[in-house]
Amino acid sequence: MTAFSLEPARLAWCAELRALAAERLRPLAGKGEPGRVDRALVAELGTLGLLSRLFTSGALDLCLMRESLAHACTEAETALALQGLGAHPVHAHGTPAQRARWLPGVSDGSVVAAFALSEPDAGSDAAALSLTAEPDGRPGPAEPAERDAAPDAARVPDAAPAPASLAAHPDGRSGWRLTGEKCWISNAPDADFYTVFARTTPGAGARGVTAFLVPADRPGLTGSRLDMLSPHPIGALRFDAVPVTADDVLGEADRGFRVAMDTLNLFRPSVGAFAVGMAQAALDATLAHTARRDAFGGKLKDLQSVAHQVAEMALRTESARLMVYAAATAYDEGAADVPRRSAMAKLLATETAQYVVDRAVQLHGARALQRGHLLEHLYREVRAPRVYEGASEVQRGIIAKELYRNPEDR
Ligand SMILES: Cc1cc2nc3c(=O)[nH]c(=O)nc-3n(C[C@H](O)[C@H](O)[C@H](O)COP(=O)(O)OP(=O)(O)OC[C@H]3O[C@@H](n4cnc5c(N)ncnc54)[C@H](O)[C@@H]3O)c2cc1C
Repeated sequence: MTAFSLEPARLAWCAELRALAAERLRPLAGKGEPGRVDRALVAELGTLGLLSRLFTSGALDLCLMRESLAHACTEAETALALQGLGAHPVHAHGTPAQRARWLPGVSDGSVVAAFALSEPDAGSDAAALSLTAEPDGRPGPAEPAERDAAPDAARVPDAAPAPASLAAHPDGRSGWRLTGEKCWISNAPDADFYTVFARTTPGAGARGVTAFLVPADRPGLTGSRLDMLSPHPIGALRFDAVPVTADDVLGEADRGFRVAMDTLNLFRPSVGAFAVGMAQAALDATLAHTARRDAFGGKLKDLQSVAHQVAEMALRTESARLMVYAAATAYDEGAADVPRRSAMAKLLATETAQYVVDRAVQLHGARALQRGHLLEHLYREVRAPRVYEGASEVQRGIIAKELYRNPEDR
């Protein structure tokens, strides 16, 4: 990427992705059931080689995939992003055994992942999470005595050594029991495994959280669906003394909040890219509609107030796109100002997409509000990204904090 545009090879890749989204993914997504994980769509993303790119691409390529897929198929975009969100902690922090057990399936689309951080009483303030991991007096499911459908990798001998807080139990206690709730978890309750953030040290805030890889078939784990405005598979999870062991820890005990923040830092600009893809789709539809629609003896586009609105939509979409690419490039280069840039990109792009989609609805008139119209779909899709992975207000908080902390970065 040069300072202000993508190289020809990347531009060509984006065009190819947009075509795949329109021709192969859109028809499949149309057959999916709203609010359910669409396994055929996830499998197709695997067949196309896009899911494996989640683990080989940098932040910029992740953004380009999300933007390009969102242009024609938001369902495919979301399915791809959720595989990345749920499995990135395994890729970046998992043991060789955890990676070998789960990542091939995530990449070929046969295994569905989810990221379970939010709770009814801990959303924006994620460090307040209270799902409890209590030391367990009995052997965990990875041990032969009690193992049932636990994954093979959970007992392989080369798994990471037991973290310090576990080794501190001289009476042979070998794991924890998870008890509590998670809610607003995308892909729940259909996912095959969850990256779950639980409190291992009470009262320690962000420092007392551990990330666990919890297979969906663990005893005591149940879930229910939530019916949301956005066409999104999402649900709540209930943990009733779910057994986990040292083999299920992602990274280190009590260091799980870093796993969560690492993942969100990578994904934050790409939420902006998703928004840019939707804004571009709305803009393209508006250009086509206003050029075709007869009004007052000419076309809608001949009215200056209409043309100026379209210009404003394009201006804002392009600014958001540039900020997203800049933030992703900063991430890939390991720049010091990633938190500020990522927050700016996510904030600007999601707010811009809301504006652009709303303008597009206005310029289409009633037809945009008819069920099944592209803009009716985008109008529902565009709202949630301003809330999840850090609400807009939280992004402003990050930006301000970074500015005061590093005045020289301004
Ligand atoms: C479609 C969708 C998918 C989701 N998927 C997942 C998922 O896969 N995994 C997961 O763990 N979570 C997921 N979430 C949950 C999401 O991360 C939370 O909704 C988000 O963190 C906000 O938490 P909350 O909804 O509890 O709102 P609250 O934290 O209660 O905040 C409500 C509002 O208060 C204001 N506010 C909050 N904090 C501040 C602040 N510091 N400064 C100023 N104003 C503030 C903002 O306006 C905010 O929107 C998803 C949510 C949605 C809508």
